[in-house]
Amino acid sequence: MRCKRFPLLFITLVLQLQSNECLKALARTPQYFETTNVQIDNEPSKRLMIVCRSNGCAYKRLTDKLPLDQQVCQHCNFNVEAIDPNLYKVSSEDQLAQLTLTLEKFRTQIENGEIREITLLSSGNVLNNTAKSTEFGTDFWIGATQLISKYPHIKKLVVEGRSEYVTRESLDTIRNSLREDIALEISIGVESTNKKVLTALKKGFSQALFSNALQNIAETPNTSLHVNLLIKPIQFESEEAYISDAVKSALDVLEQSKAFGISTRIAFHPMFIAPETQLEVLYRRGDYTLPTLPSVLEVARRTQAQAIAEGYTNLSSIFIGMSDENLSAQRNSTNTTEAKRYLEIIQHFNATQELSE
Ligand code: SF4
Repeated sequence: MRCKRFPLLFITLVLQLQSNECLKALARTPQYFETTNVQIDNEPSKRLMIVCRSNGCAYKRLTDKLPLDQQVCQHCNFNVEAIDPNLYKVSSEDQLAQLTLTLEKFRTQIENGEIREITLLSSGNVLNNTAKSTEFGTDFWIGATQLISKYPHIKKLVVEGRSEYVTRESLDTIRNSLREDIALEISIGVESTNKKVLTALKKGFSQALFSNALQNIAETPNTSLHVNLLIKPIQFESEEAYISDAVKSALDVLEQSKAFGISTRIAFHPMFIAPETQLEVLYRRGDYTLPTLPSVLEVARRTQAQAIAEGYTNLSSIFIGMSDENLSAQRNSTNTTEAKRYLEIIQHFNATQELSE
């Protein structure tokens, strides 16, 4: 009897091992990466953005208390590219392998100084080493900062994190092992300062936690703020309304960070249609249209002018993030015949802060 069952058990075991190996290989592959223009120290440069693969958004896991495929996010839905933690727990070691692999791929551009900024993101989670998870732990951070510090031309590390993860402890872990002259920039997804937008997004944004994060950034040497804002959330249909919301949100954020004396980069992100979101439903019904690229440029133009007029000297630069991180299936503002010309203007703006039309 035992002999007869043996082959079946053996085959099952082999299949399980193979599937574990496949998941491990996937966990060692970043979700997405790209290079784009940025301005660093008033000079045109390039950043390498790496979206780390993970077990999904820890905030959604905690609040929805549901398996990965049932967690509802009204907005980013990065979770579609994540690995179900019940199948495989992504570890710090895996994530360090993702970083190593991507840096190696771009080694020439990093070594010759073309790329001078590394940006790491993953569902607001990269600074979350407090959760009971195996991801983004101290091992990851020590390894990552040592790896990045080896490249003399790297001048900035941008790390994305929800406000509650921007603690003194998480900042100190990075700052203490990152080369001293590499500026650390903490990227927080505020999205909008309009309460209706924040409530609808269900991202759990808290003003108190944001202020606390600002305080921690202010107390950390050579560390600044990067705030992500949306252009055209669902609540603002008319062009004037969504431009005004984005500009107002930027000025509100600058007002707050100025109080803490923090240098701040404002990053605007035109909405795109991510799968399985509320926005996708509206878009398919014809009840939502994407923001236009001229209006995206207008947001940058007005923010720049008003920040100067209102004395926000803490504005370090404005960035227009056009990446959909491969999530939109071409349902984004770049999918028009006119887009190429505007994208060139945007790329030029990101590198120089000059708007030419
Ligand atoms: S938008 Fe925020 S809360 Fe929603 S899945 Fe993305 S990172 Fe998580």
